[in-house]
Amino acid sequence: MTFLFNSDATRGAIFAEAFARELPDVPFSLDPVTVDPEAVRYLITWTVPENLARYRNLEILFSIGAGVDQFRIDAVPAHVKVVRMVEDGIVRMMQEYVALAVLSLHRDLPAYLNQQRLRSWQAIAPVQASERRIGVLGLGMLGTSVLERLKPFGFPLSGWSRSPREIGDVRCLSGRDGLDTLLRSTDILVCLLPLTDETRCLLSATLFAQLPARAALVHVGRGPQLDHQALLEALDSGHLSGAVIDVTDPEPLPPDHPFWIHSKILLTPHIASVTQPESAAAAVIENIKRFRAGLDPVGLVDRHRGY
Ligand code: NAP
Repeated sequence: MTFLFNSDATRGAIFAEAFARELPDVPFSLDPVTVDPEAVRYLITWTVPENLARYRNLEILFSIGAGVDQFRIDAVPAHVKVVRMVEDGIVRMMQEYVALAVLSLHRDLPAYLNQQRLRSWQAIAPVQASERRIGVLGLGMLGTSVLERLKPFGFPLSGWSRSPREIGDVRCLSGRDGLDTLLRSTDILVCLLPLTDETRCLLSATLFAQLPARAALVHVGRGPQLDHQALLEALDSGHLSGAVIDVTDPEPLPPDHPFWIHSKILLTPHIASVTQPESAAAAVIENIKRFRAGLDPVGLVDRHRGY
C-alpha cells in the first residue's frame, strides 16, 4: 500500500518525514522509476502521468493543487477516488491575496502607481468601503474564506455559487438569475471558480457589460475563464477601471502580451495561493486515515460536476 509522491523533491522530503512520523505503516516513495507499480495505492501529483494504467491497485489520486482541471478525469479509472488539495496554507494565502487585491482596487493603487511614475501628486476622490460592493464568484472553500476575511472592512458582500448557500452577512445568490443580480450590483468582482465546461470563458464581454461602469476585476480562478481581449476592451473603453490578474492562458504570458504593460492591470504569476508542504502533508495523511476508516476523503471530487 505504497504512497507515491510525484512532484518536486524538496516538498517530497517534507511529505516523507511527515509520513514516517504519522503513517509509518505506509511505505513512501519519491521515485516512479523504482517503485513497484502494483504496490501503489495512493498517488499525489500535479498532472496525471501518461502511464497511470501501470498503477493497477491505485485507490486515491491526490492533486497537489486546489484544482483538478489539469487532470483529464475521464482518463482516470472510475473506481479511483480523485481528491483535490484542501489545506490551511492555501486558504490563508488566498485570503491575503484577495484582501490585497480588493484593497488595491478600492484605494486606486494602479492609478497611484502610474501617477508616481509621472511624478504627479494628485488625490483621487475616495469611495468609502460601505459604498464599494464586492461580488465573489464561487462560494467554496476559498470564496467563503475570502469573504470572511473581507467582512471587517465593511464592504457590502455578495457571493455566487451553483447551489444555494447561506453565509452570515453575505448576500448569497445562485443560478443564472443570481449571476445577473450579482453582476448588476458589484463594483469589485472576484473570480474564485473552478475551471469546468460551464465556467470556461465566463469572464467575457457579455459579463463585463453587466457590471456597473467603473467596476473592477480580481481574477484568481483559472486562466481559461477569462477572455483577454474582452478585458482589454472593457478597460480601454473605461467601462472597467482596473484588474488584478493572477491567472492567465497561457501561463506564462508571451513577452509581447498587452497585460504586461497595461496601466490598469496589476499582474502576478499565478502565486495567489500555493500549497504549503507541511500543512498539505498533514491534510493528505488525515485523508488517508479517513479513507482507511471508511470515510470519504475531504476534497473528494464529484466527477460529474468536474470539481
Ligand atoms: P470549491 O470548494 O470546489 O468551490 C467551488 C465553488 O464554485 C462552489 O461554491 C461551487 O458551487 C462554485 N461553482 C462551480 N461551478 C459553478 C458554476 N458553474 N456556477 C456557479 N458556481 C459554480 O473550490 P475552492 O477550493 O474554493 O477553489 C476554487 C478555485 O480557485 C480552484 O478550483 C482553482 O481554480 C482556484 N485556485 C486558484 C489559486 C491561485 O493561486 N490563483 C489557488 C488555489 C485555487 P457549489 O457551492 O454550488 O458547489
